[in-house]
Amino acid sequence: MTVHEKLRQLNERVKAARAETEARGETFYPGPSRVHLAAFPPRQRWDYWVELDSRSWPERTEKRYTLVPTTCFNCESACGLLAYVDRETLQVRKFEGNPEHPGSRGRNCAKGPATLNQVTDPDRILYPLKRAAGRGQGRWERVSWDQALDDIASRIRKAITDGRPNEVMYHVGRPGEDGFTERVLAAWGVDGHNSHTNICSSSGRAGYHYWMGLDRPSPDHANADLILLISAHLESGHYFNPHAQRVIEARQRGARLVVFDVRLSNTATHADHWVSPQPGSEAAILLAIARELVESGRYNREFVERWWNWREYLARERADLETSFASFERAFLELYSEFTFEFAAAESGVPETTLRVITDLVAKAQTRLSTHNWRSAAAGNLGGWQVSRCLFLLNALMGAVAIEGGVYPNAWNKFVPRPMHLPPHPPRWNELTWPAEYPLAMNELSFLLPHFIDEGRGRLEVYFTRVYNPVWTNPDGFRWIEMLMDEAKVGLHVALTPTWSETAFFADYVLPMGVGSERHDLHSYETHDAQWLGFRQPVLRAARARLGEPIDDTRQVNPGEVWEENEFWIELSWRIDPDGSLGIRGYFESQKQPGTKLGVDEYYGWIFENSVPGLPERAAAEGLTPLEWMRRYGAFEVKRGIGAVHEQVVPEDELEDVAVDVFGRAYTRSPRPSTPNIVPQPTPDPDAEGRRPVGVEGGGRVLRGFPTPSGRLEFYSRTLAEWGWPEYAVPAYIRSHVHPANLEEGQVVLVPTFRLPVQIHTRSANAKWLDEIAHTNPLWINPIDASRWGGIHTGEPVRVDTEIGYFVLRAWVTQGIRPGVVGCSHHMGRWKPATEAAGQRQMMATVDLEHAGSRWKMKRRRGAAPYESSDPDTRRIWWTDVGVHQNLTFGVHPDPISGMHCWHQAVRVRRANPGEAAGDIGVDTEKSREVYGRWLGMTRSAFRVSPDGTRRPYWLLRPLKPAQDAFRLPAQTEGRR
Ligand code: SF4
Repeated sequence: MTVHEKLRQLNERVKAARAETEARGETFYPGPSRVHLAAFPPRQRWDYWVELDSRSWPERTEKRYTLVPTTCFNCESACGLLAYVDRETLQVRKFEGNPEHPGSRGRNCAKGPATLNQVTDPDRILYPLKRAAGRGQGRWERVSWDQALDDIASRIRKAITDGRPNEVMYHVGRPGEDGFTERVLAAWGVDGHNSHTNICSSSGRAGYHYWMGLDRPSPDHANADLILLISAHLESGHYFNPHAQRVIEARQRGARLVVFDVRLSNTATHADHWVSPQPGSEAAILLAIARELVESGRYNREFVERWWNWREYLARERADLETSFASFERAFLELYSEFTFEFAAAESGVPETTLRVITDLVAKAQTRLSTHNWRSAAAGNLGGWQVSRCLFLLNALMGAVAIEGGVYPNAWNKFVPRPMHLPPHPPRWNELTWPAEYPLAMNELSFLLPHFIDEGRGRLEVYFTRVYNPVWTNPDGFRWIEMLMDEAKVGLHVALTPTWSETAFFADYVLPMGVGSERHDLHSYETHDAQWLGFRQPVLRAARARLGEPIDDTRQVNPGEVWEENEFWIELSWRIDPDGSLGIRGYFESQKQPGTKLGVDEYYGWIFENSVPGLPERAAAEGLTPLEWMRRYGAFEVKRGIGAVHEQVVPEDELEDVAVDVFGRAYTRSPRPSTPNIVPQPTPDPDAEGRRPVGVEGGGRVLRGFPTPSGRLEFYSRTLAEWGWPEYAVPAYIRSHVHPANLEEGQVVLVPTFRLPVQIHTRSANAKWLDEIAHTNPLWINPIDASRWGGIHTGEPVRVDTEIGYFVLRAWVTQGIRPGVVGCSHHMGRWKPATEAAGQRQMMATVDLEHAGSRWKMKRRRGAAPYESSDPDTRRIWWTDVGVHQNLTFGVHPDPISGMHCWHQAVRVRRANPGEAAGDIGVDTEKSREVYGRWLGMTRSAFRVSPDGTRRPYWLLRPLKPAQDAFRLPAQTEGRR
């Protein structure tokens, strides 16, 4: 019997088992063997689940559990977890996957179950703390929540009533929620949202946004024939576990996998073709493939003719040609005539034969082509946003857009339910986050904050950092320390965090927040062609409620005085506006009992009853309220198979006084219909008569189209052309700042952007299981380079010199990276100052910080070591190395268009000097100011390029979008940038 016959037979048996189980009215979860073992407890038995205690073996000790779902908070994927709450102790004993979750389907990576470590971490922050000495001096005193809330609220209230509302800033790393906090800020009337996105994914987003109006791809990997990744999606990235399992499904079906990555990632090891190009050359390869597809006629001509805005391109860029699709094909080939395989091979170092093979695979896949780029090349390079733009060009050419096996726009595969209160957009603009130099930035220029404040562009009265550790995560961390240490620049710094971080050491208040099983949030992400809603909840609160003990404050069940942010924000808002006179309190009041505080049960109960189609009926069928149903199962699939929204015919009742422009864009006077799904959508401009865009003309009907200015896929972006960047209005190749031509003699490229599968930024370092698996970040060096640098061996300390300083770390000589490039994962090198009594000890080195003028030095005093604690495992810590904090030594590199920090570095590598040891770091922040100035000089300010006197194209997405009036540029003044 062949393997395939065996598999077929097994599948038949699984089908039979499924039918049998479902006939009994139970849910069938195929087990690991796919034959007889169920992988998960049937959901009918989650209230009372009995299993043997593995630790008691050979004793057969039964353990009785209540199983409560929640959502993992250890990366952006938001996979479902199932907490095993011991019915005797009412403590969580373990976390496993939630099989009812449509995105993760019961599967997790190592970080999911390690949530348990974070709950029991002996070093976690359990009580509100206030600094008891100068900022950064490492002395803390315990305070009550009331003291902290009153102090913070009075400062915010004063900033608002004094007319300084934008001095209140909330800076978030991983939001892990659906916009709750954006609405809090809108209710306060402040444009104070700041994010981490410009150090993460802005360039990835920009490439997609200019094509389809929406800023993320939703690839249908499971149904693809070719999966082309410029990422390491089997181990990291958006949304890696849900995507990884679907990539593997496709592989089992025979799909091919191509991975572009300069290093041999775990993902690349699974590929049919691992392509390791010169960093920054990816767009050149993609354009060469695109040119070949068009030249050889192996593309989806019908789709391109129907859905690209090629007429607009011809009209604006090639008026010399007649308006016909044949003219466009000719123009396309002329535009990209330079992009031969020979050229791409010379730029990338990838052999022409490989490029031809990949082109053939793309052509063969036709519409079953799923692709993804998020961080990786987009995040590393100047102009990296053109990498995702050029990657999506392949999908757009093949018609592999919003079709089975292709790539969907994210918002179509996502569901954000309308809440009870929706405050209006704030009426003001914050120049500290959205400066005029970056009118097209996808997100806040967050990592430039210390430079902006230094230049006197503003100050902060109250600065919240939340799941965000800019001192450690951002480039140029010493500039952040300089800013945070200066009370004239930052009046009050409040760190909302479950665990100690390099940034929290420089706070005034450190307020303990819950981990993934200790807080409420809603989630929905584009994991496949469906819309689902996931519910994160404090599992002990839900378990106790199920056992008949209602809880009305999450602190009652969390360890110590750990809180959740939703209840915190509601309470804080009431204290800012106790009598409602500022108009804030009303957004946080109960509807059931007007004049009283909104509780989270009412908040989520209202959403589940009123804004999630199908959920009330589903819950009623089981005799539950919608809130009870979500507390019981944790996730709900709103819709499956969304399909090609752009092809939908717009109904007649939305078509009042329709006008169609010369390129087929249709406008209507009828108002936008209200929908329970409030996924942020772009708002393309109205026509001259004030009609709103509604779709595109197609065969005598109005089709929905894409949410771009033209309503089509924008090969040509009028926005980019009109806002000062006409040369990049079409997919283009921008030579990176680390292109070989830009490197000095002896420099190589440092790729510092990759994640390890089991660690993630600040959040995972307090998980002992993960720390034991991965705790260091050596420098990947190709043997050719190791040899030309004097025969460097694995384990030797090497020194990496950047443009603002240096760091020392251990070498790892490996063929897993191309010559001329070195790599270092950014998930290590955690530290705490020796002056700091607190801190996380499993993964933080203790360091001495020296500071003289602009010169900073960090010297490691000791690495990790065993210690006594409530957890006996901390006595068993066997590792000492915790890696090096490389980001401290990087100057800021804001891309002049997307605003993304371009992470790759031009560096020199050599054997470490005598006396230098792994972990040593030196930086001159004066040099980092110079680097900032150089990159700022590349921008084209809205004051110079805005075509309409506004700060930014109104149609582009923007978190916490202000009112339209706030978009107007102030009058030009002397010295304005
Ligand atoms: S850390 Fe792992 S389990 Fe948790 S959300 Fe991310 S991929 Fe899922």
